[in-house]
Amino acid sequence: MLKIMTPGPTQVRENVRMKRSIEVTNPDLDLEFYDFYKDTCDKLSRILKTENSSYILSGEAILGLEAACASLTEPGDRVLVIDNGIFGRGFEDFVKMYGGEVVLFESEYDRPVDISRLAAFLEKDSDFKYATVVHCDTPSGVLNDIEKICTLFDSHGILSVVDSVSSMFGQDICVDTSHIDIICGGSQKALSAPVGITLVCVSDRAFASMEARKSPISSFYANLLNYKDYYINKWFPYSMPISDIYGVAQAIDNVIEEEGFVQRHKDIAQAARKALTQAGLEFYLKSGFADTITAIKVPQGLTDSDILRIMKEKYGVMIAGCFGCLSGKVIRIGHMGENANVEDMKLVMDALQGALKELGFELSCNLKESFYAIFLTLSFI
Ligand SMILES: *Cc1c(COP(=O)(O)O)cnc(C)c1O
Repeated sequence: MLKIMTPGPTQVRENVRMKRSIEVTNPDLDLEFYDFYKDTCDKLSRILKTENSSYILSGEAILGLEAACASLTEPGDRVLVIDNGIFGRGFEDFVKMYGGEVVLFESEYDRPVDISRLAAFLEKDSDFKYATVVHCDTPSGVLNDIEKICTLFDSHGILSVVDSVSSMFGQDICVDTSHIDIICGGSQKALSAPVGITLVCVSDRAFASMEARKSPISSFYANLLNYKDYYINKWFPYSMPISDIYGVAQAIDNVIEEEGFVQRHKDIAQAARKALTQAGLEFYLKSGFADTITAIKVPQGLTDSDILRIMKEKYGVMIAGCFGCLSGKVIRIGHMGENANVEDMKLVMDALQGALKELGFELSCNLKESFYAIFLTLSFI
């Protein structure tokens, strides 16, 4: 079996796969399902440390991003899009699609957003209905300080939409103290459930803004207001994918039951970065490394496709290349959720070293051994 070590989709634990196969009820008509769905959503809100309501939508994580933009944007609305990564910039498309007027806050892709520069920008212009920002921009692995950024937006009366798809569960997130209005996650990243489900958590202010619109939301599937009162009305906008939701619920329980879930990500990420540096490899990022993914520069003279091919064919380990402006420039290890474990990371390190060696690039230490040694010192402090 191929070992999947990509930044999503990630490995799925057996109890999640099993849960998806249990007998199902009619999710529209069986009132017990509404309780199960709500319980699961409430657990998510607790993980995100918020009083806001969470929702599970049938559709890959992109649906959450689009739904946030579809539901908030009215034609002509000014929207600030924080552009310090490929997903960050990507919000522009969704905002424009629903008639919004995008203002980009451009910032280098190899480091987090500079808070004081953003603060200075907002002092001059803060006339935005909402702003979008990516927590971990997965192509580079940069982690933005959403607590500071969204608090800043809030102080200017700007609603915030956060793409936390590749950071949710793997990084500590506190929605309430960060003043986040809509935050989106997906099933297939650190949660380690199969792909196909969006998680969104929405503030009352965001719902109030949607309800105050002059024009109707021009979508049905991406209309978050359709979910708002599902529990009171015992009505979902469409039949819920009950088996997918059973799987997600089990995966959420797995997160809750593991003490130190976030710390595990931190330790693995730190050990990986230190070992890779020791071995002589470089990162695309200058600072702001997320704990869920590491993007390594492709060494000069080599190609990403050769490295990935050898790792896959000879070692049975799959990591990822990249796309957009980082295409061919980095290879990425997704150490999130079920992937973030020592044994699998040792396999990755070994496979990477072997592939590089075969391509004529010698590392300056044994990557696997260094990784393991560093990990042990970190996790036993
Ligand atoms: C994975 C991911 C998404 C969802 O995108 P897909 O390419 O469909 O998997 C959205 N935002 C971020 C930051 C992601 O990492």
